[in-house]
Amino acid sequence: MTIDVAAARRALDGAAPEAVLAWAFAQFPRLAISTAFGPEGCALVAMAVAQKPDVKVFTVDTDFLFPESIALRDQFAAKYHLDIEVVRGQVTLAEQNARHGLDLWQRDTDQCCALRKVEPTERALHGLDAWVAGLRRDQSKTRADIDVVELYERPEGPLYKVNPLLHWTRSDTWKYLHDHEVPYNPLLDQGYKSIGCWPCTKAVGAGDDERAGRWGGQKSECGIHTFMAKKG
Ligand code: SF4
Repeated sequence: MTIDVAAARRALDGAAPEAVLAWAFAQFPRLAISTAFGPEGCALVAMAVAQKPDVKVFTVDTDFLFPESIALRDQFAAKYHLDIEVVRGQVTLAEQNARHGLDLWQRDTDQCCALRKVEPTERALHGLDAWVAGLRRDQSKTRADIDVVELYERPEGPLYKVNPLLHWTRSDTWKYLHDHEVPYNPLLDQGYKSIGCWPCTKAVGAGDDERAGRWGGQKSECGIHTFMAKKG
């Protein structure tokens, strides 16, 4: 399957997220949403289910998730009747501890994220034509240049990534969650603005950057959205 990415961007950039999703569902028979059930992911999944009740959704369980995040995942599965695929690293946490020592995240977050997040994501994307994510351009500098449709080359063939929420602001996300009564992580009401693994996530102040509470400010991406080189 080959898509004219430049033409797709011209047609879709600035379109409503619902229209971008409808286009993606029509184009790609093998499509999945990946989410860690942050606010954007929650909005995206709810929006997608409204169009395609059996949409494929996968999420990574790093073995370091907050209990609230696991409960939210279960709540989504029940509320939206979703069979959410939960993927874990091929290297178990016990194996990681044996090879690299306890609490690798204290010494090398890149290696820990590679084992616990990136590897299972890469595996879950295998066999898909398209990957839909809830990224916003204004979340961080590292996301400022995302496009509504992106192309990544893999040995098995192209992978298209679709970012329907790229032009949303944080308040757009919250409006959608409230208007559509979409569940969200209760930690977001307790000073957390972005939620990942508990060892690497902290609550932040009201005026702090959205991703300032992740990795103690050492980095702002785990690698899931940066491990492949975008083409074009
Ligand atoms: S966010 Fe922290 S605990 Fe989670 S995989 Fe990355 S380094 Fe490990």
